[in-house]
Amino acid sequence: MDKKKNLRVLVLDDDKFMLEFVSHLLRELGVNEVLVAENGAAGLFALSAQIEVVDLLICDIEMPGMDGIEFLRHIADQKYSGKVVLFSDVEADLLKAIERLAIVRGLNVVGTLAKPVTMGSLTAILEKLSLPIQKTTNSSQVRQIFDVEEIRQALMADQITLFFQPKISASSRRVTSVECLARWHHARYGYISPDNFISIIEQNGLINDFTRNVLKKSVQQLDIWLQNGLDLEISVNVSMANLDRFDLPEIYQEAVQDSNVPIERVTLEITEGKLGKDFAQSLDILTRIRLKGFGLSIDDFGTGYASMETLKYMPFTELKIDRIFAHNAAQDSATRVILESSIKLGKAFGLNVVVEGIENQADCELVTELGCDEIQGYFIAQPMLADEFARWLCDYEKNRK
Ligand code: C2E
Ligand code: MG
Ligand code: MG
Repeated sequence: MDKKKNLRVLVLDDDKFMLEFVSHLLRELGVNEVLVAENGAAGLFALSAQIEVVDLLICDIEMPGMDGIEFLRHIADQKYSGKVVLFSDVEADLLKAIERLAIVRGLNVVGTLAKPVTMGSLTAILEKLSLPIQKTTNSSQVRQIFDVEEIRQALMADQITLFFQPKISASSRRVTSVECLARWHHARYGYISPDNFISIIEQNGLINDFTRNVLKKSVQQLDIWLQNGLDLEISVNVSMANLDRFDLPEIYQEAVQDSNVPIERVTLEITEGKLGKDFAQSLDILTRIRLKGFGLSIDDFGTGYASMETLKYMPFTELKIDRIFAHNAAQDSATRVILESSIKLGKAFGLNVVVEGIENQADCELVTELGCDEIQGYFIAQPMLADEFARWLCDYEKNRK
């Protein structure tokens, strides 16, 4: 339980007694650094003044002035990367809606805490924090620091590394495929997640070189795995900003043809949210990508705007349901309904249905029962470096048999 002692927790509540009480409980539970704020402005100040990141924010929802929803919006904009617990006595369904909103905004919500708070409920929340934490850097700090020149240099110096996250078959539990996720290996900050640099790359006309580079590296890695007798496929993320040139299918084909990898083993994932700027052009490019033999996946399904139209026209082979519809679906009926109908929809279109962001056994069992084809998420494995993945796969296969 020593981990708790190193935690820095910020409690935000307009009720002075509640602040004192929760701080007291946290200290009793061994947390030695508890910060308190009586209103949203003080909370924002406390977060911005911290050189070291606040690990956990316990946030009241009903507050005069800036309420909890507004506060969460501000910290999401500032890319707060710590964990969040919602703390309130509003009705359960409203609290759930607020939780979903916070997740949609990219916040890492680990749970809700009903009032009156007890030692038991706080302990349960702190236990959850011992879950593995990703080794990425504080993104708010990072975001201010990087400019396009630094990123350009990083691309030239080949500082983009790939992490690999397995997908398993829901029925056989065999590892079928691996998603290749880019990380910037920064000399000072370690591995930096793509959310901190992809948009800068897109906005500065660097995305085509970047994607080709990622695709080449991913295919080279698959080539090695295939040579070692591993029966795997890969998925590579392609930005919608890539779909601005008609020769893209040829560029991608060339990147794969430099290796011995059959093109059918490579799926390109496109985020649905950004589809449709120039619908006919996107459709043209994506259709020709399919014609070359690539699989085509609609990523983060459910978070975009044109789901039905996209499904009707675009030649996708796979539907990847966003993690906001998987997270806690076993416990939350509204989430479950959306998840179930998305899976049905994907199956009705004859697509390979993947659910991503599975973090616990209950959700894993649920999505299997609901008929999805493949599962991805921290419950199976976190993204890993290639050699780490090879070791993990070996252990996984031993335990599966
Ligand atoms: P994505 O394609 O939807 O990838 C899944 C993201 O969810 C990854 O974040 C992964 O680490 C994370 N994830 C996987 N399982 C879980 C889970 O159980 N719980 C939670 N909370 N998260 C999980 P990552 O690697 O930070 O990537 C973020 C996004 O950046 C990706 O979302 C993708 O859209 C984009 N991206 C990553 N690599 C590339 C790339 O090479 N090119 C482009 N254009 N975009 C990329
Ligand atoms: Mg993806
Ligand atoms: Mg996704």
